[in-house]
Amino acid sequence: MSTKYIFVTGGVSSSLGKGIIAASLGKLLQSRGFRVTIQKLDPYINVDPGTLNPYEHGECYVTVDGHEADLDLGHYERFLNVETHKVNNITTGRIYQSVIEKERRGDYLGKTVQIIPHITDEIKHHILSLGSTGDFDFVITEIGGTVGDIESLPFIESVRQLRWQMGRDCCCIHLTYVPYLAAAKELKTKPTQHSVKDLQQEGVQPDIIVLRTEHDIPTEVRRKVALFCNVDEDAVIQSIDAPTIYRVPLNMLDEGLDSVVLRKTGFDLATVAAPDMDSWKAFLHRLEDAKEDVTIALVGKYVQLQDAYKSIREALSHAAAYNNRKLKLVSFLSDDINPQNVKQLSEFQGIVIAPGFGSRGVEGKLAAIRFARENKIPCLGICMGMQCMAIEFARDVLGYADANSTEFDEHTKHNIIDLMDSQKRTTYKGATMRLGAYPCRLQEGSRVRDIYGCEEIKERHRHRYELNHVYQPELERHGLHCSGVNPDSGLTEIIELDGHPWFIGTQFHPEYSSTVLHPHPLFLSFIRTAIQVI
Ligand code: GLN
Repeated sequence: MSTKYIFVTGGVSSSLGKGIIAASLGKLLQSRGFRVTIQKLDPYINVDPGTLNPYEHGECYVTVDGHEADLDLGHYERFLNVETHKVNNITTGRIYQSVIEKERRGDYLGKTVQIIPHITDEIKHHILSLGSTGDFDFVITEIGGTVGDIESLPFIESVRQLRWQMGRDCCCIHLTYVPYLAAAKELKTKPTQHSVKDLQQEGVQPDIIVLRTEHDIPTEVRRKVALFCNVDEDAVIQSIDAPTIYRVPLNMLDEGLDSVVLRKTGFDLATVAAPDMDSWKAFLHRLEDAKEDVTIALVGKYVQLQDAYKSIREALSHAAAYNNRKLKLVSFLSDDINPQNVKQLSEFQGIVIAPGFGSRGVEGKLAAIRFARENKIPCLGICMGMQCMAIEFARDVLGYADANSTEFDEHTKHNIIDLMDSQKRTTYKGATMRLGAYPCRLQEGSRVRDIYGCEEIKERHRHRYELNHVYQPELERHGLHCSGVNPDSGLTEIIELDGHPWFIGTQFHPEYSSTVLHPHPLFLSFIRTAIQVI
């Protein structure tokens, strides 16, 4: 069977949830036995989102192969339970960078380098390279941005060409928004009609239209959209607001999105296995039916934007569901926390200290950590959260009042966290980020060994600074153990505190690898303890 390519575009407005629709479709196809991957094309000029402020673009997701990626890749992994890689996220910046490098090398043999065909060829190459591995039956490509934007034109043009070249191996889904005018009590399809016209003007006729809506869309309205936009009536699908994103695949199943895609790409439905969504439904029931709450405080510096800590929120919600609890997550801006007001955290069953870069809000994180440590509240520190755990401990327990990370105080005498040369074990400047999955050996008899239930794990990193090994013996003597160590470099990956119900910091980001079907063991254990302690 040749690989089928599904394109998902969006119109009318951004933030309609193209990523969730793409992931839901992927899940449904996967549940019918197909091998599926999802790719995101982002129209911005940044080569990757690594340097973007989370307030600009939400969290930066990290793939196992160390690519800093759009947060939609997180949804793809959480829904499909498969890993994504660098090739799953392409930006305009990366396309241009590669074309310009080729031009400089002389690869174009004196030709004038143009958007068509050179940029579009490069885009098509990146789309097709996923299918050419032979690993996938379906490649779903989500095009970021909104149809009609200048930025996304080369991507849409590439879809047009592929469509023409591949015929039935291709299918286009366009997601739009149907507003409800309360005064007139009417759902309005005009924005959808205009958006489809924009897409047609760029040469692409959608096969399927998904209507994002807050109200049920009646048959006459669907018929009208079908008629105006040249699509089959059953290919007009509603995506109604859902209480949780994890319900969307089941809503799409009810609407027949997967069946229409299969028909459009030439399958005889009678020969395709029915979707098996039993394990998904089991998770959803736990998530939706949980009666009791588990209350968790998230302390970080980007808390005003929901998406800034997307993977942490999702990992916590998976773990809460599997513990039959409803997650009540309250965010605290670390800048606002101080030793005087930190008592407000006492009403929470667990505290998560978020990752971060730069010194803003660090003192608030340290105050929250001290409160959790002294009051025996379960506490999970992630990346900078773990670094702050070590700094706080060094200040209060080892008595080094100026203990710090050289990221925040370059001249501190007690550089508990510093740039490390893992081989020579000396500090040096100008380190680049440690990105992607690295192995970690778990110490025998440690808490984390028990939690993971194995000796060696692999987890994803995104940081420059490390725990300074010079302080390790002293930290350990006082009960803060380096219980996870990189077997190759000796770098500390996990710290855990003796005599505390749950006080664990990870230099890596466990949140990136929690999925619906495989909730992360650390989050599961953190929530389980949080429930038991209070
Ligand atoms: N700023 C810290 C470092 O670079 C932590 C990074 C993070 O939390 N992702 O090491």
